[in-house]
Amino acid sequence: MSRLKNLREKSVIKKVNNKGRFIKPCPGTPNYVCCGYQIIDFAHGCSLGCTYCILNYYFKNEPVIIFKNRKKLFDELEEFLEKREGITRFGTGEFTDSLLLEQALPLYNELIPYISNNNKAVLELKTKTTNIEGILKIKEHQNTILSWSVNSIYAAQKEERYAPKINARIDAAFRVQESGYKLAFHFDPIIIHENWEAEYRKTIDLIFKKVNPENIVYISMGTLRFIPEMKHLMEKMVTGYRGGEFIKGSDNKMRYFRPLRTLVYQKIKTYLKNYVDENVIYMCMENPTVWEDVFDISHMTSKKLITRLDSACLNKFDIIP
Ligand code: SF4
Repeated sequence: MSRLKNLREKSVIKKVNNKGRFIKPCPGTPNYVCCGYQIIDFAHGCSLGCTYCILNYYFKNEPVIIFKNRKKLFDELEEFLEKREGITRFGTGEFTDSLLLEQALPLYNELIPYISNNNKAVLELKTKTTNIEGILKIKEHQNTILSWSVNSIYAAQKEERYAPKINARIDAAFRVQESGYKLAFHFDPIIIHENWEAEYRKTIDLIFKKVNPENIVYISMGTLRFIPEMKHLMEKMVTGYRGGEFIKGSDNKMRYFRPLRTLVYQKIKTYLKNYVDENVIYMCMENPTVWEDVFDISHMTSKKLITRLDSACLNKFDIIP
């Protein structure tokens, strides 16, 4: 079946009831340092079809699903927050793109004010889209972070062909910044390709031509990783897949060799530090050795990363630890 046909089928949206939990912890894996956020699982699938996306494997050619029994979502949120101690960072972009489906069944005009009225929760919406019109109309949005997944322009052209271009994503970030939202960026997956250093630097410089560093809560970096069952999908990647250069980690995911990952993170971190403080930068699903080599933090743990990200939120939001 052609890729375009797959995408057309996926763009059929089904609205169903969620019989499972809406709130679930980020499925971190042992031996890798996890950011410890909570997923609000409101939809499954994405029609943007980035070549490397694990959702291509999980949901294959199934249509995109949105869960319509939203009362249960809010009941779970209330119960969760009542029992929870300390700050909770919620995210909606784990099993779909956070903003892709907003026109089909709006969620945020209710969810964003709900979180805004809670003084110990932060909500992050992670997207590659420019679907911000509804978001811009929401007035109560104190504790919400709008975040964009970004890449080198070259990798985005090749592997994220159906998503808005990097310039358009940055323009959208600028617009939400102007209406008072805080921002995050995720360089993930970073793909090694010809001239990658200069290309990633270009994206970083483009971001900070428009975005005020003061508005950034955090920035993550994560290199390309995939489960071995996705090898046949990865071989269709236009750039970046070099079968022989990957190793299997203890979480069963294929990654670049550690020295290569370390080099990539060191370079990108150096470019980011031209604009932001090191404390707001972190790595997604990396091991303690890489943390030591890149950030000079020994014995890094998920607990330490959670504290780092909670502190980043405390610096920007009026929340109580
Ligand atoms: S936009 Fe995100 S969720 Fe959608 S296909 Fe690309 S990586 Fe996957």
